[in-house]
Amino acid sequence: TQPVLAVVGRPNVGKSTLVNRIIGRREAVVEDVPGVTRDRVAYDALWNGRRFTVLDTGGWEVDATGRAAQIAAQAEVAAQTADAVALVVDARVGATVEDRAVAKVLQRSGKPVLVIANKVDDERVEADAMELWSLGLGQPYPVSALHGRGSGDLLDAVLAIL
Ligand code: GDP
Ligand code: MG
Repeated sequence: TQPVLAVVGRPNVGKSTLVNRIIGRREAVVEDVPGVTRDRVAYDALWNGRRFTVLDTGGWEVDATGRAAQIAAQAEVAAQTADAVALVVDARVGATVEDRAVAKVLQRSGKPVLVIANKVDDERVEADAMELWSLGLGQPYPVSALHGRGSGDLLDAVLAIL
C-alpha cells in the first residue's frame, strides 16, 4: 500500500483544484459554490517516481451549521486516516477562526502537516502567504493551484514528509 496525503481545509479554499494539480488530471470536482457532497475522494498520484494516494476531503463537507467544529472534526478524521496532511488556506483571505481550529487539531494529531497558502497567483500575494506562519505549523508553501505556481516545490515537500 502507498502512503496517503489528506488535503483538508475550509470550503472554497481550492482543495479540489490542488488535488487536480497534484494528480495532473481534472478528476476532483472544482466548484465555485462551497459544500457540495462528493462520493469519490481518493486519487493516485505520482511525483519523481514515487506513488502516493491523495484524499480530497471535499466529500465530507455537509452543511453550514456549526461549520468550524465540523471542519475541525473532518480534519481530525483525515489526520487519523492519512500519513501526512496538507492544510489548504486561502492566502488572500488569511487565517480564519476555522483555519485556526483545524490547525490546532492537526497540531495535536502529531502527523506531519504542510500549510498550503493557496491562491498566490502572483508575487504580490506572497507577503500574505507568509502571515500563515501564525498557524504554528511551520513554513507556509505559497502556491497557485489554479495556475501551477509553486506546485513543484510543494510536491517535493510532500514527498519529503510521506
Ligand atoms: P474546495 O472547495 O476547497 O475544493 O475549492 P475548489 O477547488 O472547488 O475551488 C474553489 C474556487 O476557488 C474555484 O472557483 C477555483 O477555481 C478557485 N481556486 C482554486 N485555486 C485557486 C488559485 O490558486 N487561484 C485562484 N485565483 N482561484 C483558485
Ligand atoms: Mg472540493
